[in-house]
Amino acid sequence: MLHLYNSLTKQKEVFQPLKKGVVTMYNCGPTVYNFAHIGNLRSFLFTDLLRRHLEHSGYRVRQVMNITDVGHALTDEDTGEDKIEAAAKKEKLSPYQIARKYEKAFFEDIKKLKIRPAWKYPRATEHIKEMIKIIEKLFKNGYAYVGKDDSVYFDVTKCKNYGELSGNRLEDLIAGARVEENPAKKNPFDFVLWIVNPRHIMQWNSPWGRGYPGWHIECSAMSMKYLGNTLDIHTGGEDNKFPHHESEIAQSEGATGHKFAHFWLHTKHLLVEGEKMSKSKGNFYTLGDVLSKRDLGAKYSARAVRYLLLSAHYREELNFTFESLKSAENTLVRLDDFYSKLFETSFMEKTKGFFGFKKSNPGVRCLIQETREDFKRAMDDDLNVPKALAVIFSFVNRTNSVLENVAAGFSPRSEVGGVRKLLNEFDNVLGLGLRRIGKGGLPAGIKKLLEERERARKEKNWQKADEIRKQINKLGYLVEDTDTGQKIKKK
Ligand SMILES: [Zn+2]
Repeated sequence: MLHLYNSLTKQKEVFQPLKKGVVTMYNCGPTVYNFAHIGNLRSFLFTDLLRRHLEHSGYRVRQVMNITDVGHALTDEDTGEDKIEAAAKKEKLSPYQIARKYEKAFFEDIKKLKIRPAWKYPRATEHIKEMIKIIEKLFKNGYAYVGKDDSVYFDVTKCKNYGELSGNRLEDLIAGARVEENPAKKNPFDFVLWIVNPRHIMQWNSPWGRGYPGWHIECSAMSMKYLGNTLDIHTGGEDNKFPHHESEIAQSEGATGHKFAHFWLHTKHLLVEGEKMSKSKGNFYTLGDVLSKRDLGAKYSARAVRYLLLSAHYREELNFTFESLKSAENTLVRLDDFYSKLFETSFMEKTKGFFGFKKSNPGVRCLIQETREDFKRAMDDDLNVPKALAVIFSFVNRTNSVLENVAAGFSPRSEVGGVRKLLNEFDNVLGLGLRRIGKGGLPAGIKKLLEERERARKEKNWQKADEIRKQINKLGYLVEDTDTGQKIKKK
């Protein structure tokens, strides 16, 4: 049974969708004014993992991820410079050109990372009407008001459960008064629904004047339009919790009178080389930045990035380092290697020939079944990927030795098929893209290293050639230099 940690109730709960067999899920998507950084990508990868696990468990998932293509301000939502506007000025493009450019880049990134496409990717600029409708309902229900600056605000004091998600109780917020008081608002923590500003770079008509919507309202409008008033799951990065998600709840429930989302799931921050990402430290990596780096001449693969970003539990801080990316790459080489072996007839014949008769080995069958259950149990436990990976590695190790030194009564062909099937199941959930390396072929990572070593040899860079040889060695291969060039064999 699937248990998920619900940020709203601050505990793990049994997950049951409202409608049998179908899960409605809304994910806060990218603001398209720049390339996504690996912290954003971690959060998108998490939604993919959740969706894959739900699908693997038999659910149909109706997944919606928004594209924020109308700017919101850099600091508070109603002060400071608009991100899309700032990018438009900097790149000398129109705001729509900026939005489309980075939307395209976002789709390219998620494709590289093997993120399954959501059912819908609605754009904020195409849902202004729906946002206005919700604001009108909020006026009708007594939550919205026009401020002294003519913009429309949400009165948080009218909302009984404001602060339930983030733990920011209104009294404390007011006492702390971290937000500089805006005299246009009734209360300092009221948030903006519609900004009246006829000079803004993106603007639309509204009953309150020309302007543009606040950030939070777009997610309420688009989630409810496609998924109904109440969602099963809403996700986002932990920095979205407040004020973004808190405000989404307040305005959605204020407009409909129904519970907005049953489960709230938040991904923790990402550190890079032990430090918080920031522009000034220059560690604000995009996927493109990471994939253009080289390790001993070989470029990193997108699937190693995927593996690394998924390998820590989503509620734990993940420290992204190039050292750990390298070991992610190595792990995948080993898994590919094992996976490929399961297709080798020589491997099967060897074990078959040794025993010569076809009787199923209950030990292997049990191991497959137990592992399948252990993996599911780990994933059902709030998507515990580290545990699920440990289950896989232990299975690979044990199977490897069983297959190499089979006990009597082993029928390799059927057992090997079972092992392969199980690995495909894991891959269906984790999306690691396990590859079958052709007969006599080498894993792509090893091939790259060999090519790079060849180059180093030609340049007489013996130190580098030696380093690469050591790395190849660590990955389970022996490389020898002969008169006709490098020779490689499995250890
Ligand atoms: Zn959102």
